[in-house]
Amino acid sequence: MSRCRFYPNNLGGVVPGVGQCDETEDILPNGYCILHEESFLKNESDNEKTRKEKEEKVRKNVFDKLSQCISTNKPFNCICYYLPELDLRMRTFVVPVNFIYTFFLGYVNFSEDGGSIILTASIASSKGFGGGSVYSATKAAIR
Ligand SMILES: [Zn+2]
Repeated sequence: MSRCRFYPNNLGGVVPGVGQCDETEDILPNGYCILHEESFLKNESDNEKTRKEKEEKVRKNVFDKLSQCISTNKPFNCICYYLPELDLRMRTFVVPVNFIYTFFLGYVNFSEDGGSIILTASIASSKGFGGGSVYSATKAAIR
């Protein structure tokens, strides 16, 4: 069984105890999972239908992981994930959710009252956040 080869070894130990990505199902031919391969969602040759299907697949994966973290009472760490538009309204997080070096490729809506965190492509495309700092503006422990 293959496993995603992403390993957060360039993050200066920002997430102690977190090792290699444990994804084993949605693995692409280059060895990375669909969450860790930028080109999975950003493929210019995909048509609208394919793009939407891929986004849905990533969303399902993310929410499955979140459910698993909740059932095992562990923090949900999104490390270097490439995420599509996400609607997190009406979701109750009973575990901490950390977005660390996460690349948002669409809108992320966290609240029901119209407030949302909108991250633009310029953020999504800036690979380094400088000096090993953690991009924590959206670090969320939402209840
Ligand atoms: Zn992975």
